[in-house]
Amino acid sequence: MTEIPEVLVVGAGPTGLTAAMELSRLGVSVRIVDRAAQPSQTSRALGVQARTLELLRVRGVGEDMLRLGNRATATALYARGRRIAGLDFARMTSDHNFILLLAQSETERLLTEQLGRQGVKVDRGVEVIGLEQRPADVQVRLCTGDGAQETVTAGYVIAADGAHSPIRTTLGLPFEGRSLPHHYVLGDLHLAGEVPEDQLSIFLAPNGFLAVFPMGEGRFRFMATDPDGLTGESPEPDLAAIQALYDRVSPVPAELHDLNWSSRFRIHSRHMTSLRHGRVFFGGDAAHVHSPAGGQGMNAGIQDMINLAWKLAMVLDGRAREPLLDTYGSDRLPVIAQLVSMTERATAIFNSTSPLLHATVTRLAPLLLARPAVQDKAVPRLGQIAASYRGAPLAAGGGRAGALRAGDRVPDVEVGTAAGDRHRLYDLLDLTRLTLVTSTDDAPAGYGDLIAVRQVSDGVDGWWLIRPDGYLAAAGPKGDQRVMTRWLSRWFS
Ligand SMILES: Cc1cc2nc3c(=O)[nH]c(=O)nc-3n(C[C@H](O)[C@H](O)[C@H](O)COP(=O)(O)OP(=O)(O)OC[C@H]3O[C@@H](n4cnc5c(N)ncnc54)[C@H](O)[C@@H]3O)c2cc1C
Repeated sequence: MTEIPEVLVVGAGPTGLTAAMELSRLGVSVRIVDRAAQPSQTSRALGVQARTLELLRVRGVGEDMLRLGNRATATALYARGRRIAGLDFARMTSDHNFILLLAQSETERLLTEQLGRQGVKVDRGVEVIGLEQRPADVQVRLCTGDGAQETVTAGYVIAADGAHSPIRTTLGLPFEGRSLPHHYVLGDLHLAGEVPEDQLSIFLAPNGFLAVFPMGEGRFRFMATDPDGLTGESPEPDLAAIQALYDRVSPVPAELHDLNWSSRFRIHSRHMTSLRHGRVFFGGDAAHVHSPAGGQGMNAGIQDMINLAWKLAMVLDGRAREPLLDTYGSDRLPVIAQLVSMTERATAIFNSTSPLLHATVTRLAPLLLARPAVQDKAVPRLGQIAASYRGAPLAAGGGRAGALRAGDRVPDVEVGTAAGDRHRLYDLLDLTRLTLVTSTDDAPAGYGDLIAVRQVSDGVDGWWLIRPDGYLAAAGPKGDQRVMTRWLSRWFS
């Protein structure tokens, strides 16, 4: 008989794999199922952002990703036959001041391997075909590849079942937004020419947008609009058609060859208005889809689950009160809504065929991007290190430490310990509990299961209470922990 899981994760894409990895690391019994018999082999999402790398490195996956991926340190924008502007990722205030380009199939493989090391195997060829919520649990009907059916009972369900989310559909939940008129031609191919392998290259023309993203060793992801149908009707455009698109838009001569796969991609821009429905939580593409502009989608799904997992684990083992679970949606929804509108705006501007808009964009971009303040705003946003949960209920009353406010990402500052050692802050965090980093030795009494204490001699003034997902829970000055006690008593038992 199958053991009853505390959490059933539906879908083993990057979102579901992260959920299962986090929950099992936190000691929650978890089962993860996917209807596909085999993992997907296509590269799909390529860009792994700085924030995702920060979060995955301390969870045992990031080092391998960094070893296998290709680093782009800048974006170059071309128009009117030349490079007109660029974004410099070196300005990202993170150790990972680049975009890592790694095929989604590789990211999924590494997450699956880490999950395996934590003792969980993906149950493949198992499809969720029905679901019934009850006051204390969820009954889920599963169908295995040979047609056999099974009903499992789980405390909670995580729906990471992709953009078409059968669970969202079954529950009749809205997926608000729209489908954009734009289509992309996509391909993985090799490129011989002068296109640099350490930058994202974006070419703008009045009759189309085109981008090539370097995957290393001469391999590139090609992505372009085709407003006047140069590539014909085939669902898988051939190499000659893709070369014709390239030659029309790019001023950098290159010969494209060895096309691995190609497809067309329609852009949808939608998100759910609530990420929780009773005992079912939604994340990743099931909860939000948007333009691939900026390579944000997969990263957002991974970060959804890093936000949710510790809350679920603490409510399940009784350390936290149940309302903590609602803060998953109140933290993530504003970030998601902003992501969807930002990518929609960028797509409308870059993909426009209006000569007037094209002329305005290509004149303004060099002026704007020459300003350090614009670069300093745009780059951390792209790397998702600027995303903050500041205005959310979980940050309320959490106080501040200098410019850092409750809900903000905690930076990986260098700290000294009482023993005289130097450490990076992220290496001192306890990812199973809150971590209190304090310059005094007066930790609050009675919270041993909930709080790990790290006494530091410098790097942090006063005290910072840090959530397991690396965001600031609360902060205050030396000797005054009233903010912390009030904040803790609101959410924890
Ligand atoms: C061609 C293509 C190119 C893309 N390019 C980019 C890009 O450049 N950058 C970017 O950020 N994003 C890109 N994306 C989007 C990116 O791939 C997604 O954001 C990412 O895959 C989302 O991960 P997920 O785990 O939420 O969902 P998915 O990866 O879709 O995984 C969902 C899983 O759920 C399983 N499932 C569904 N229903 C059931 C069921 N009833 N029972 C059991 N299992 C079920 C599916 O088999 C699937 O494995 C691209 C997508 C495509 C298709």
